[in-house]
Amino acid sequence: MRLAQQQLTRATTVEEYQQIGILIRDSWIEFTRKLFSPSLVPAGTTPPGPADVNGMLSYTFTQWPNCSQKLKKQCEILFSLTNEIQHRTSIDEISTEWCVVNTALVMALLLELDSQANQLASRRYYRCPICGSLRLSVIKDTEVDPIDGPIYDYEQWECQDCDWEHFVNLG
Ligand SMILES: [Zn+2]
Repeated sequence: MRLAQQQLTRATTVEEYQQIGILIRDSWIEFTRKLFSPSLVPAGTTPPGPADVNGMLSYTFTQWPNCSQKLKKQCEILFSLTNEIQHRTSIDEISTEWCVVNTALVMALLLELDSQANQLASRRYYRCPICGSLRLSVIKDTEVDPIDGPIYDYEQWECQDCDWEHFVNLG
């Protein structure tokens, strides 16, 4: 993407804009491959091809239950615009710049969503084991004896959507 941004400042001809379209498309492919994991595809389903950006993204989005439909749509629009830029002979600077800038923004947002999901997934509980809710609260604390001092660390989990409560003694 950085290369596309650099070339945009120099580009003046249709061929140069088309070249930028190719760079953005390649960035999408590389970027989506990093976010996508074959483990997201259900067994018995054919996984998307290595350049199938929309296919890989649709599986990636399933990891982010709160991801908005508008963001998904925006990714599709931006990716299809890169294909348009590299093929259309009447492409102009404004459309190319719009595509470069918005693709960079959307990619930053997707990275943020991915890092949030990874943080959640590395917790002891990601979803409520009873109702499947993602709205879990956890208190980490240490049980302290007034005389002997710290006895053990614990986690106190609570689901905000049902009455599941769980106590973990961490020793
Ligand atoms: Zn629950």
